[in-house]
Amino acid sequence: MATYDVAVIGSGPGGYVAAIRCAQLGLKTAIIEKYNTLGGTCLNVGCIPSKALLDSSEHYHQAKEQFETHGIKLNNLAVDMPQMIKRKREVVEQTVGGIDFLMKKNKIDVFHGHGSFKSTTEINIAKEDGSTETIEAKKTIIATGSKPSSLPFIEIDKKRVITSTEALELQKVPKKMVVIGGGVIGLELGSVYQRLGTEVTIVEYMDSIIPTMDRTMGKELGRSLKKMGMKLLLSHKVKEVSATSRSVTVKADDKKGKEIELKADYCLVAVGRKPYTDGLGLENVGIATDERGRIEVNDHLQTKHANIYAIGDVIKGAMLAHKAEEEGTLVAEQIAGQKPHINYLLIPGVVYTWPEVASVGHTEEQLKDAGTPYKVGSFPFKASGRARASMDTDGLIKVLAHKETDEILGVHMCGPRAADMIAEAVVAMEFRASAEDITRMSHAHPTFTESFREAALAATDNRAIHI
Ligand code: FAD
Ligand code: NAD
Repeated sequence: MATYDVAVIGSGPGGYVAAIRCAQLGLKTAIIEKYNTLGGTCLNVGCIPSKALLDSSEHYHQAKEQFETHGIKLNNLAVDMPQMIKRKREVVEQTVGGIDFLMKKNKIDVFHGHGSFKSTTEINIAKEDGSTETIEAKKTIIATGSKPSSLPFIEIDKKRVITSTEALELQKVPKKMVVIGGGVIGLELGSVYQRLGTEVTIVEYMDSIIPTMDRTMGKELGRSLKKMGMKLLLSHKVKEVSATSRSVTVKADDKKGKEIELKADYCLVAVGRKPYTDGLGLENVGIATDERGRIEVNDHLQTKHANIYAIGDVIKGAMLAHKAEEEGTLVAEQIAGQKPHINYLLIPGVVYTWPEVASVGHTEEQLKDAGTPYKVGSFPFKASGRARASMDTDGLIKVLAHKETDEILGVHMCGPRAADMIAEAVVAMEFRASAEDITRMSHAHPTFTESFREAALAATDNRAIHI
């Protein structure tokens, strides 16, 4: 039986990063993945393919809506959906191929098959050809991720009632799509199809889209999405979804209890994801899951067995690729005897719509609830020369700072390139910068990042220059 210092079950961003870091630290490492390709949800059916389609659809949308104003004329502009999907697949293939290379480079043994615990140190691997193999590992890292969740009365037939996975593979631009859930997946994939010409209706249970983010962000993004033609039905409770072979009907009640009925080609169910532990044999090692199906871990990400860890979407916390990566690194370094730390407050959240939304730290609502004295500075992109030059004037940057100490407590951006710009806020907050610190740093002109400095100026005695 092959013996390892560490076995990692699951090869998503949590698992493959944990495996690489273990190998870098001199540990003999194996990784087990039930699918034929490595990379997990993120690389195969999540972050990477969705961003490929977001970029393609945004190029089309810009060509259609903005090029003429820029002085560029195009004839016969059209969407070639099969080509768009083909390019997306190629991006995925290249990216997962890169993980194969990294496994070889780091001398990590890759096992393709379904991993399950036989005991706290033995893992059974059931392969596609029906054969099985058992390996022994001193430590195991569970990184089995998550799957789409649904509502009890919805049957996901994967044909008309679909999840994100199927929405990334449509071969034709639908006429109409209903999206249940105005969270990250609903708005990102809803944007892809709205830009390509689909009439998209988002049905959200709460009174705001992206309801867990700072409320200003939902308002700002909502305005832009509506301008694009997307319909947002807030405070609506879906109660029935029925499908035929060609269409789907969604019934929901509005805030006052009045029923509405929507007909569409597809209904995308995007109401969250659930941890995935099916067939993992947790019962063989006495590891229980909580009421939401998550594996319980302590601050060191250890389960009830000190030699079995769990990371990423399968445990508590934000279901984000970079959160899973941080946890993979943390566990590997702990196993190697180091004392790493994760500052969970400073894990940024991003929505890759256009404008993009990006946040780090506390929301204004959280500061209010906690009774923390704070001040707000914001700056709209319509006052930015760079944003006017690129026709990206929607949105704003909001800086929340402590009223007495001026320490930055939260930064929320809705605007062009917010996904990349949030890194500056993360660095600033990691070094516990004050709003004034940001105002004293030179930001190249003209850039979108100047708007962060302006928002920090606004938070520092209302000193914004350009508004
Ligand atoms: P996963 O990536 O889910 O990987 C788990 C792996 O374990 C899978 O490959 C699975 O096959 C394997 N596995 C499970 N059980 C077993 C077993 N018993 N034996 C062997 N293998 C097993 N996050 C971001 O940060 N940014 C984004 O832009 C983003 N976009 C997203 C877009 C979509 C459409 C979706 C669905 C998700 C997106 N996410 C994004 C979330 C991100 O994909 C997840 O947070 C991330 O993949 C979690 O990583 P993980 O390693 O915990 O698990
Ligand atoms: P989500 O939690 O972001 O959004 C789900 C939305 O559905 C919420 O707004 C919720 O209020 C709503 N909802 C729940 N029940 C409902 C009902 N009965 N009727 C109407 N609306 C209802 O979940 P998601 O969009 O499915 O994404 C799943 C996970 O994947 C998220 O945790 C997210 O972190 C991750 N993800 C991240 C990114 C990114 O980082 N850019 C992109 C995609 C997915």
